[in-house]
Amino acid sequence: MNGILKTENLKTFYILESLGEKKVVKAVNGVNLNIPQNEIYGIAGESGCGKSTLLKALLASLEPPLQLIEGKLFYLINGNYVDVFSFPEGKIKKLRWSYISYIPQGSMHVLNPVKKVRDTFLEFLESHTKRKDRKEYFLLASEHLKELGLSPRILDVYPHQLSGGMRQRTVIALATLLRPHIILADEPTTALDVVAQRAVIQLLKKIQREFQNTIVMVTHDMGIHAQITTRMAIMYAGKIVEEGPTNEIFSRPFHPYTKHLIQSLPKIGDKKLREGIPGSPPSLISLPSGCAFHPRCPYAFDKCKSELPELIEINSQHKVACFLNRG
Ligand code: ADP
Ligand code: MG
Repeated sequence: MNGILKTENLKTFYILESLGEKKVVKAVNGVNLNIPQNEIYGIAGESGCGKSTLLKALLASLEPPLQLIEGKLFYLINGNYVDVFSFPEGKIKKLRWSYISYIPQGSMHVLNPVKKVRDTFLEFLESHTKRKDRKEYFLLASEHLKELGLSPRILDVYPHQLSGGMRQRTVIALATLLRPHIILADEPTTALDVVAQRAVIQLLKKIQREFQNTIVMVTHDMGIHAQITTRMAIMYAGKIVEEGPTNEIFSRPFHPYTKHLIQSLPKIGDKKLREGIPGSPPSLISLPSGCAFHPRCPYAFDKCKSELPELIEINSQHKVACFLNRG
């Protein structure tokens, strides 16, 4: 499958040095992705497993202490794959917002509180497009909001006059102004109530449908993945441990970690507390030997403690990194 965004053995680590001591946080540790075009693709996993770092790597936005250790990143542009890390910084910057855009974690707070939303939109357009006059920019911004089913009156207010959910939708509108082919969204529904979450999900679905683009949706919330993604990857300790069509992941999860994530989802009408996953994710500074999940895995056997399971196909659509049933 020729995805729009691919990685090969991508490794990006935080290299921390203080008082002569060096610590390496292996946040993205050998990730192979092939993200299909025109779909909403999910990345799931508990907090601290490297999801936000992976998105920064996919955006080719690596700033110290985060470093590219090895691996490649490809974008499909006009039918050809380009090797993004070989690009000069200026060329990567040109792709940002127009080819690939990013909704950072906690981004409902990124709107400038002392400016009307209109000014943020106009300044964004001024700095990222060819010169037009403010009237044209204003029209463009209003039309875009209308297309997304949002009121252009948002432009006339200050961010604090909007609810958290509305602010989040405004940031999504801003990130899609230049019609990017790929949108990376980091936990856009986290910290919102259920009603506001639903509105954000509707908006992202509408954007994907109308602009026929690719959205990479990162959230720890498996319930959101079930509602919005068509394919997904499960991340644990900097690696992808399972990947496949979302309906198959939910109906036939293979990796014990995936099963735990699904089992810990609250069920309608079920008042008892769901069982969480025993233990907590390992430190990415000193990873366990073998499979990083083995200390928490109820099925672990000797091999899991010493060897690293590769991500391999269990059918043409579905991949798993686990030794169970594999001999
Ligand atoms: P997630 O988004 O899945 O919660 P992150 O990508 O934010 O995970 O973090 C992965 C690991 O990288 C964590 O161990 C976190 O503490 C570490 N980390 C994140 N940002 C930094 C940073 N700026 N400097 C050092 N370590 C970091
Ligand atoms: Mg995160």
